[in-house]
Amino acid sequence: MDQREMVALLERRGIRDERVLEAMAAVPRQAFVPESRLEAAYGDHALPIGHQQTISQPYIVALMTEALELTPGKRVLEIGTGSGYQAAVLAEMGMDVYTIERIPELGEAAARNLEEQGYAVHTKVDDGYRGWSDYAPFSGIVVTAAAPEIPEPLVSQLADGGRMVIPVGPTGSYQTLWKVIRRGDQIERVNLGGVAFVPFISEEL
Ligand code: SAH
Repeated sequence: MDQREMVALLERRGIRDERVLEAMAAVPRQAFVPESRLEAAYGDHALPIGHQQTISQPYIVALMTEALELTPGKRVLEIGTGSGYQAAVLAEMGMDVYTIERIPELGEAAARNLEEQGYAVHTKVDDGYRGWSDYAPFSGIVVTAAAPEIPEPLVSQLADGGRMVIPVGPTGSYQTLWKVIRRGDQIERVNLGGVAFVPFISEEL
């Protein structure tokens, strides 16, 4: 499968947001997968990136990005930089992107790679549980690892009307992908279906 076929598949699977489809047609996913996996770069599946982590499946990246409902220039926080691919898609869409990764080797490699690819993304190596309060509030927050519960600091860093997309549930099994919308002190949740993510690891949990 090549990049054009990958985007056609995303459309067939129900992704409608043109900005998301255009960004995924533009970001070279092959630059974010290990060299040994180049031939699989545009297949619709997750791939290992070392340290027992994965670059997410293209369909899931598209689904989560679409659910954020962002317009260009909005500030967005990602927890779980991994390869940097999701951050690159958001940057390609014109967002102001902040991303946190807990594994230093991955965070540092992703930061270098994003820079080489020409994406100006703010990166940090840290436990993402606490979010990034210096730059809050965020119009969108995307968590790309599965947590047993929604980290409270992330909810508090969401702008009024902002959206967070997060897989919640047991690790090593399936989780539910939630879209969480903050309305004042209330939160509304929309179930986006079943997903399988690597675990969200935090000392705070
Ligand atoms: N968005 C990534 C997917 C990476 S997999 C991509 O596009 O490639 C999820 C990542 O979340 C892993 O790299 C893992 O190390 C990281 N992670 C897990 N718990 C975390 C935490 N508490 N804070 C920050 N990163 C975390």
